[in-house]
Amino acid sequence: MSDRLAVLEPATEAVLAEVPRAGVDEADEAVARAREALPAWRALAPAERARALHALADVLAEHLEELAVLEARNAGKAITDARGEMGMVVDTFRYYAGAPERLLGDTIPVAGGQAFTVREPVGVVGLITPWNFPLTIAAWKLAPALAAGNTVVLKPAELTPLTALRFSELVLAAGLPEGVVNVLVGPGRTCGQRLVEHPDVNKIAFTGSTEVGRSIAASAAATIKRVTLELGGKSANIVFADADLEAAAAAAPSAVFGNAGQDCCARSRILVEASAMERFLALLEPHVKALRVGDPLDEATEMGPLISAAQLTTVASFLDDGDPVAFAGSAPDGPGFWHAPTVLAPVDPHARVAREEVFGPIAAVIPFTDEADAVRLANDTIYGLSGSIWTRDGARALRVARAVETGVLSINANTSVRVTTPFGGFKQSGYGRELGPHALDAYTEVKTIFYATGE
Ligand code: NAD
Repeated sequence: MSDRLAVLEPATEAVLAEVPRAGVDEADEAVARAREALPAWRALAPAERARALHALADVLAEHLEELAVLEARNAGKAITDARGEMGMVVDTFRYYAGAPERLLGDTIPVAGGQAFTVREPVGVVGLITPWNFPLTIAAWKLAPALAAGNTVVLKPAELTPLTALRFSELVLAAGLPEGVVNVLVGPGRTCGQRLVEHPDVNKIAFTGSTEVGRSIAASAAATIKRVTLELGGKSANIVFADADLEAAAAAAPSAVFGNAGQDCCARSRILVEASAMERFLALLEPHVKALRVGDPLDEATEMGPLISAAQLTTVASFLDDGDPVAFAGSAPDGPGFWHAPTVLAPVDPHARVAREEVFGPIAAVIPFTDEADAVRLANDTIYGLSGSIWTRDGARALRVARAVETGVLSINANTSVRVTTPFGGFKQSGYGRELGPHALDAYTEVKTIFYATGE
């Protein structure tokens, strides 16, 4: 096997970079460096660790445009989206820079002394991330992990390692000590698997497919490693007939075709009350046809290519099942892994496209009869990550929001992630929460201390 990995630009299929390929030995070395750096990093005074994270946020902000262009080219995402994502990376480090001084414990009344809790870092944390939001998802893990006093080994996806590699240089430029952040680029089956099995790695924070997440949870069991999993999704965008249909139709395309549909929160099932189906589709069509699909570096582009030839083959296979194409947008010809945004309607809820994660720009529009039917269809999936509810009836919005089995929901909007609010899945979309105050729970151990007072 070559010791170099060729990294492609999905919009052109050209080689963008060649990077060293890490394997088991490199994973062991990175873990050893992280372990060596741990005592000094966790012993830093809370305000010192906060200052280091603010310094890192400053350096990232100074390099925001460079990182955005690199991410747009390597992941094939629209430059305007990439800029927004890099902004979120900066904000994530700023938010968790406040955490070291706010890692509070409890005091608990007991007999014979004082009992109290403190939060300790977990230790060395392995971060394994996917290719769809490369640096953003890494930052959701890096920032709380570092804030809590852990050291880390980050293994980005082999297809999109470039921003993580640049990040590792910026970490040192910001003055963080060597060994606190280690980045390894290598295959999941060797390099990633070694992190999962390594006895000196205390926790794995993983984002990726449900299939790989399942195997990681099984392997991690051998060393009782802590694991958090952010996995796949098949989220429902539920549109009731009494909704502002114009607003719901205008917002639906970016909720499923954003990042070319390669988004774990993609609302790839649009559930529409049957009585509003015809009108909703008529309102949706011009928005889908107007989507600007093209060169990720063009400021006007709204959707880029898929990540790889393999992903294009997988996505295209969903159109071979005979589900009716209602309408589609456009895609460029020539090199690049392009797929037009495509709307299928009406789709049988048992069809493959209604059940499996497409991870590409295909939306399945499914009719429902009433509120109970909408909830039943929304929950008829192994996944439970995200979703939306569009209605003018506030009480119904809240009833449905409580009944839908997902970790994140929005009403009359399609948002899923914010730096300040928890994000994560129900069911086979994973366990653990990232972002917001809750992420720190996943990177700390609670220790109880009893001090006898001799009473
Ligand atoms: P993937 O599961 O194929 O790979 C993710 C990462 O795991 C990569 O770094 C890969 O190298 C590594 N990996 C693969 N096999 C491994 C193994 N045996 N041991 C250790 N590491 C291994 O996922 P992907 O194709 O990169 O990303 C797409 C998937 O990620 C989709 O299913 C999507 O829904 C999911 N995703 C989820 C979220 C979320 O927050 N819930 C966010 C983004 C993507």
